[in-house]
Amino acid sequence: MKIIDGKAISASLKEAVREQVGALKAKYGRVPHLTVIRVGEDPASVVYVRNKAKACEACGISNTTLVLPEDISEASLLDKVRELNEDPAVDGILVQLPLPKHISEARVIETIAREKDVDGFHPCNVAGLWQKTPHMSPCTPKGIMKLLEAAGVDPCGKRAVVIGRSNIVGLPVAKMLLDANATVTLCHTRTVNLAEVTRQADILVVAAGRAKMVRADMVSPGCVVIDVGMDRDPVTGALCGDVDFDAVAPIAGAITPVPGGVGPMTIACLMENTVECFLKRVQ
Ligand code: NAD
Repeated sequence: MKIIDGKAISASLKEAVREQVGALKAKYGRVPHLTVIRVGEDPASVVYVRNKAKACEACGISNTTLVLPEDISEASLLDKVRELNEDPAVDGILVQLPLPKHISEARVIETIAREKDVDGFHPCNVAGLWQKTPHMSPCTPKGIMKLLEAAGVDPCGKRAVVIGRSNIVGLPVAKMLLDANATVTLCHTRTVNLAEVTRQADILVVAAGRAKMVRADMVSPGCVVIDVGMDRDPVTGALCGDVDFDAVAPIAGAITPVPGGVGPMTIACLMENTVECFLKRVQ
């Protein structure tokens, strides 16, 4: 069994971005700029946004974090986004989700200029993924595909099973696996006999948000297991994934740990996407 070290793989991706940013500064006289908007004080969002700023600093990407009050109106938030769309010094805009209930996430996402949408959530970027036209790829699925590549796993011809059908992970990663020529099955809360389906998998991607839901009897020997979950262990309160790592690791061919698997790759891909947005704007 091999542990797929997302921390190490993401570190080398970020190093490559740092070198690229140095070259961009020499060529264009400025570095890419990412603006992150956080609304309110959701504790998980505070940590995620802080980590994004840290990664920008490590890569030499200039960045701003705007913290807006929990009770900001949707109209004011949309105005802020439009202002950033028009700001020539801003290459990438990221609005940290989830937003407070009174604000429509869909309206906020569609207001971000497509060419500054570093998260790849804008409807035009989503359409681009599904229609195979140029687009910004969402960071977490992109990071998963890079983990597979770094681990030497070619999805071509393999049976891939994805648990979870969210817009940000399950659906786009299923499409990317399909484009990499895997035979893909997408599972969700209404899937009957989930374990029977997951046992068919050569590659199992789990993005359900249910602590340790994937048990040893759900995985066949040699399966490559990618755990996207960021959960709390109901007993210890410690950060854990959707996969019962200790039980599944001895059976798996390769597996990502939590923390240190998909999470750091998401942030590294965000750095890449910020550079991609910059390049589209300067060229
Ligand atoms: P979500 O809640 O939007 O979607 C969860 C999906 O899982 C749903 O489609 C649901 O049908 C399915 N599901 C839930 N319970 C199930 C069960 N018992 N059996 C089968 N299917 C089930 O979640 P999301 O936003 O896709 O996130 C999923 C997990 O990934 C969360 O733990 C989240 O924190 C984590 N996440 C991590 C990163 C990262 O960078 N590491 C990024 C995004 C999300």
